[in-house]
Amino acid sequence: MNPIYMDYAATTPVDDRVAERMARFLTRDGDYGNPASRSHMLGWLAEEAVEEARNDVADLIGADSREIVWTSGATESNNLALKGVADNFAPEDCHIIVGATEHKAVLDPAHYLAGKGYGLTVVQPNEDGVISVEAVREAWQPNTRLVSVMAANNETGVLNPVAGIGALCAERDAWFHVDAAQAVGKIPVDVNDWQVTLLSISGHKFYGPKGVGALYKRRRSTLDLQAQIHGGGHERGMRSGTLATHQLVGIGDAARIVRDELAEEAERIGALRDRLWAGIEDLGDIQINGGGVPRTPGHLNVAFGGVDGEALMMALRTIAVSTGSACTSASVEPSYVLKAMGLSDQAAHGSLRFSLGRYTTENEVDTAIHSIREAVTALRKQASVAS
Ligand SMILES: *Cc1c(COP(=O)(O)O)cnc(C)c1O
Repeated sequence: MNPIYMDYAATTPVDDRVAERMARFLTRDGDYGNPASRSHMLGWLAEEAVEEARNDVADLIGADSREIVWTSGATESNNLALKGVADNFAPEDCHIIVGATEHKAVLDPAHYLAGKGYGLTVVQPNEDGVISVEAVREAWQPNTRLVSVMAANNETGVLNPVAGIGALCAERDAWFHVDAAQAVGKIPVDVNDWQVTLLSISGHKFYGPKGVGALYKRRRSTLDLQAQIHGGGHERGMRSGTLATHQLVGIGDAARIVRDELAEEAERIGALRDRLWAGIEDLGDIQINGGGVPRTPGHLNVAFGGVDGEALMMALRTIAVSTGSACTSASVEPSYVLKAMGLSDQAAHGSLRFSLGRYTTENEVDTAIHSIREAVTALRKQASVAS
């Protein structure tokens, strides 16, 4: 039996409507041409499909299609954004601000640049996991060139005040990058409302395929984004490599579905998430990480007192979820996001992330509630007998 999938923040299945259309761009009887082939029909058809997808992704975020650079995913988009800005400056002339709760795909490039001598300030969140405008302002230095703060956190779903941070960056003339991998498909995203210069997107977080993403780059900005992958000069020189037509058709169709269905879907998923919480809240000694602030509709990150997250996850084998821990090569480390919010190691280890999505049903939620209640009660009983 397949487990009940409550890990939509890790990845989503490809929507059937999307997969069906993707398949038509792969095989001999489909449009398998190279979108860069200008001399024959198969190339033109592929290019048309890629440009239609570019329009669909641009539309979803309030952008112009000429502002979309295709990448292999949000990890590459984030790398291109940070390194592509930094390469315009000598290290001593460039200070970067990032949030402590960013995905590793922002933190690691930031630390890589710091290793080369670039200035770096990592801004701490408040106890709800929010990177405030005030905290970014306090981190500012005379040579701050780039601020990177995510729209929605992948572990907690907590939303950052990106419009406010965007306004601050505009006022002080710095570039603003937003990792929106957890926001696109879950909340409305508008590059103009947020005044972003660069924004990262990942296909597989909103029912598109893995291995494809985009970086929005504002056309009217004077930023000269420096390519990190050199080759045939695709994507106006910013990202070389033959375009993967089927992947791009996939992310484009996934974007169109989100545009048409987001409002209704967010409400439905939010109600299921609230039902899940209502069904376990009275277990006691339990809290929502980031519970005091706005979050994406599908996220529920819960700290269960008196239980170990790994043990709880093992006991919940019929539900696919994530723990508040990360396995490094040597040990199980508590989540740095939860730690930055002030949770103890124990509370972080006792946390689980439930993330609901398009195919979650009421029935699944009720089954999960039942399993969680049983498992938590049993584990707490064991612990009290042992002590
Ligand atoms: C998933 C995710 C990424 C990485 O995206 P990929 O497309 O898998 O490379 C980056 N940032 C956030 C916030 C994510 O959730």
